[in-house]
Amino acid sequence: MKHVVISALCFTSLLGHAQNRDAFDPKVTELWEPKPKKVTAMPVLSAAPSDAIVLFNGRDLGEWTSGDGSPAQWEIKDGAMTVVKGKGDIKTKRQFGDVQLHLEWRTPALIESEGQGRGNSGVFLQERYELQVLDSYESTTYSNGQAGSIYKQHIPLVNATGKPGEWQSYDIIYTAPRFGDSGRMVTPAYMTVLHNGVVIQNHAAIWGPTEFKGLPFYDAHGKGSIKLQDHGNPVSYRNIWIREL
Ligand code: MG
Repeated sequence: MKHVVISALCFTSLLGHAQNRDAFDPKVTELWEPKPKKVTAMPVLSAAPSDAIVLFNGRDLGEWTSGDGSPAQWEIKDGAMTVVKGKGDIKTKRQFGDVQLHLEWRTPALIESEGQGRGNSGVFLQERYELQVLDSYESTTYSNGQAGSIYKQHIPLVNATGKPGEWQSYDIIYTAPRFGDSGRMVTPAYMTVLHNGVVIQNHAAIWGPTEFKGLPFYDAHGKGSIKLQDHGNPVSYRNIWIREL
């Protein structure tokens, strides 16, 4: 039934090409099954290799701005940067295409909510394609919205989420989409992700920019920033480095 609904939505979206996105019920693109198997793993705490660009060394936000280009206003403490609710997403000043990206993240030890409200943040490649950050240790949400999902597109292969309040790692290998002269997408973006050293996305083909409502469509673009999401929860990041491929 879900496939029928999504097929119908896809067809409708093709006709409307996202113009009426607000009319879509966000629940239609939630997939609750299958539930990825739980795997216990340790974070990979790797130092930046010599040819990496260090995006956050624990001390300053010099590589980052707010979404509107003003100075980033997340809190820096104990070698980590933390979302300050309402200060907004932050993004790198530099723009990237194909990359290898390492970062470490931590959801709050203090549990105050459920599902999408518990430790929600996200890593956006090229400002568009979200790898979800969430406390999915012992919290239920739709599978294509849990930690390690490519939000509302790809369910993680397993659930390697660690405990809230403990550091975890993502190692991402990202291939940017390619566009032809007419702006048509020639090859999609691809993402491979290791969560705490475990492969959770294996060369997953991305459908288009992350959408809360409706299905995505590609629009041609060039290089873009890495963006970290302020979803209202005090999620922390540290040791962020990137290698251009
Ligand atoms: Mg998110």
